[in-house]
Amino acid sequence: MKTGMAEFELIEEAFRRHTPSCKPQTRIANGDDGSVHGISPDQELVVSTDASVSGVHWPLDMPLEKAADRAVCAALSDLAAMGAEAYWLWVSVLACSASDAACMGRGIHAALWRYTIELAGGDTVSAPVNALSLTVAGILPQGTAMRRNAASPGDDLWLCGAAGHAALGLRQWQSGHRDGVFVERFAEVKPLLAEGKSLREKGVRCCIDVSDGLLQDAGHIARASGLAMRIDVEALPGWQELLDVAGPDDAKTCAMTGGEDYALLFTAPHNLRPILKPVGKRFGICKEGTGVQAAYHGRLLRMPIKGYAHFS
Ligand code: ADP
Ligand code: MG
Repeated sequence: MKTGMAEFELIEEAFRRHTPSCKPQTRIANGDDGSVHGISPDQELVVSTDASVSGVHWPLDMPLEKAADRAVCAALSDLAAMGAEAYWLWVSVLACSASDAACMGRGIHAALWRYTIELAGGDTVSAPVNALSLTVAGILPQGTAMRRNAASPGDDLWLCGAAGHAALGLRQWQSGHRDGVFVERFAEVKPLLAEGKSLREKGVRCCIDVSDGLLQDAGHIARASGLAMRIDVEALPGWQELLDVAGPDDAKTCAMTGGEDYALLFTAPHNLRPILKPVGKRFGICKEGTGVQAAYHGRLLRMPIKGYAHFS
């Protein structure tokens, strides 16, 4: 294995490339927000797993209860992106002490009650760092999962939720703020489960949740669907609020490369515009070609496609 490899290259080389087989029940395999498996003639099971580590996924000074609640919500966001109804959580708790484990337990349960999720299993171990490994699962009507490889040239690009608000909130947290709209956007993740289900029911077939930065996550859809995208930054939902507080340069950086918004980025043909308007905002277009371009009032931004990446 090469050293200094970035996250996605590492995942491909060390894990995904070596998958021995795909089972006949697997409808959407590894590579999407969740995998999808046929379990009955009319229903499919959607499963997704995420890790959340103190000092990496949440600031060391965030109360553990809040951090654990937030981690469950972030995991549920992958089910929202697939359009699934969320049913189950399995959680492995790695804790520095019994009281840290208990604190994380309170946060986990707060999130489970809020979204009516069953705690179906887990593991609890002592560790040198507080961390959670979260597996979530839900149900979908057969063949309706939203996926990353279903965009077509000419489709509109839509966003449900805001872009860059959580990144600005994290900066504010790091400079000592503990309240305000942006800090709240960062500290209190709201998985868009009802919105994801609604998009799926309205006929949307292509979606991703924005966890690592808009440019990077749009790039995942562009690559999986074999097309190019153009984003108009000023058309993003929440842009004006971000601009007012952060100023143009920081606002562009937060909106394009900041992670943790857990917004839903989806694509849809023109004929769906009227029914999708209540759920999201159009901010771009899919085209023939490759790559993602962002423009601000018609001028192309020279911004590398980067978002949050582990190991880089
Ligand atoms: P997300 O941000 O939606 O949680 P990631 O960016 O973490 O997804 O992962 C990208 C894809 O790579 C996902 O489909 C995930 O299942 C897969 N993946 C990540 N790490 C591994 C691993 N260690 N083994 C197998 N698949 C992995
Ligand atoms: Mg995701």
